Amino acid sequence: MSRTPSRDNAFERTIRSLIFTRGLRYRVHFSLPAMPRRTCDVAFPKKKIAIFLDGCFWHACPVHGSQAKTNSDFWSKKLKRNADRDHETDIHLYSQGWRVLRFWEHEQPYDIVDRIVAEVAARTATDS
Ligand SMILES: [Zn+2]
Repeated sequence: MSRTPSRDNAFERTIRSLIFTRGLRYRVHFSLPAMPRRTCDVAFPKKKIAIFLDGCFWHACPVHGSQAKTNSDFWSKKLKRNADRDHETDIHLYSQGWRVLRFWEHEQPYDIVDRIVAEVAARTATDS
């Protein structure tokens, strides 16, 4: 398979370095609670925040996902499975009391990081 989704792609690295610059410390490729072999891209485990940085192709984004429609049946099915799995992961995390944030790679990095920082701050406020 030629189009292997890479870990640590440019999108993930960009977002992680911006979060770090904002003074937040996080875990990378964190193993999700009670979900063997599934990870999120960035996690704040103590605050139970899971962040997914989704590639437009692999996760069939609504803006750029048209690629998948014109592709073969194989790709349609594969991308559908990815989307189903994402959904299942979200539901599981919510049930465990986690907050799930998903971002598309076509979103503005600074907007994404602002939302992450706000979420971490909000979660901190409710902890006390
Ligand atoms: Zn997109």
